Amino acid sequence: MTEPILLVTGTSSGIGLTTAVAAARAGFTVVATMRDLAKSDSLRSAAATAGVELDLQPLDVTDPASIEGCLAHIRSTYGRLDALLNNAGAGHVGTVELESVDDVRAVMEVNFFGVVAMSKTAMPLLRESRGRLLTVSSVGGVVGQPFNEAYCAAKFAVEGFMESLTPVAATVGVRVSVIEPGAVSTEFVANVGIERTLAEGTPYDTALRAYLARTAAAFDPANAQTADGVAERIVEVLVADDPPARVQTSDAAHRFVGIKLGDLDGAHVQAVTAHWVTGT
Ligand code: NAP
Repeated sequence: MTEPILLVTGTSSGIGLTTAVAAARAGFTVVATMRDLAKSDSLRSAAATAGVELDLQPLDVTDPASIEGCLAHIRSTYGRLDALLNNAGAGHVGTVELESVDDVRAVMEVNFFGVVAMSKTAMPLLRESRGRLLTVSSVGGVVGQPFNEAYCAAKFAVEGFMESLTPVAATVGVRVSVIEPGAVSTEFVANVGIERTLAEGTPYDTALRAYLARTAAAFDPANAQTADGVAERIVEVLVADDPPARVQTSDAAHRFVGIKLGDLDGAHVQAVTAHWVTGT
């Protein structure tokens, strides 16, 4: 049996980078992809430090030709694919009155339709290998969070899509899992490029400032999970005989998602998240 082949999206930084390296250490042949290979220095250096080799390929999950090109490379080079990790994603902070519908569409494009397009294109190969389909969702795929309307909508969409697909995929031998991290210390917040002035002069200014103060504390490396910690959990799921359909990657994520799952009238979630925007 040759090494299993794993495709990871969004490996230029963060969870994708650490998981690509951790999976290679665990014995996977990893096709590590990113939009712009010019941004591959951190990944190359992490792989060298870990003593593993990766197959670096260009891939933009919002570009059908790029997706097809990457899958064609996998078919011709390896003739199989054993696992796909949909990791690529991007945060977004805003609220409906302050943003355009196109802003929301762009968030859906990368975080949801990118996942759909990747999964659709990879599914024939995953079916042949009776493989694994993993998607990095978020606790924001379960609990709606202030100023994350578009991002949480996209991650909720991912969760609904995958929860519906899971029993269907199982009938053809493909196991589906969603991964739900809480706050993880990566480039994620910096990449959102949040402007403190986003709501200046609007009725949302005070609430946004409270939210940003709360976010800074949550993502402080002293409080957030490490990307290595998330990668370790993802590799456990990749090699598990009976992988769970949904996985929280930390105790904090487990507790937070747990608030929602028994919250039949929505009161418990609101009791928690309302404080994020009042600063109380
Ligand atoms: P990150 O360091 O910002 O990494 C995001 C990765 O996605 C980058 O490699 C980025 O590539 C890539 N990406 C963005 N748009 C893409 C596209 N169109 N095609 C291909 N790749 C694209 O953040 P991260 O924390 O590792 O995020 C990874 C996943 O975890 C995301 O799905 C995110 O929603 C999820 N997540 C993160 C947290 C957290 O607290 N950090 C919590 C829960 C869930 P470029 O360098 O080209 O932009």
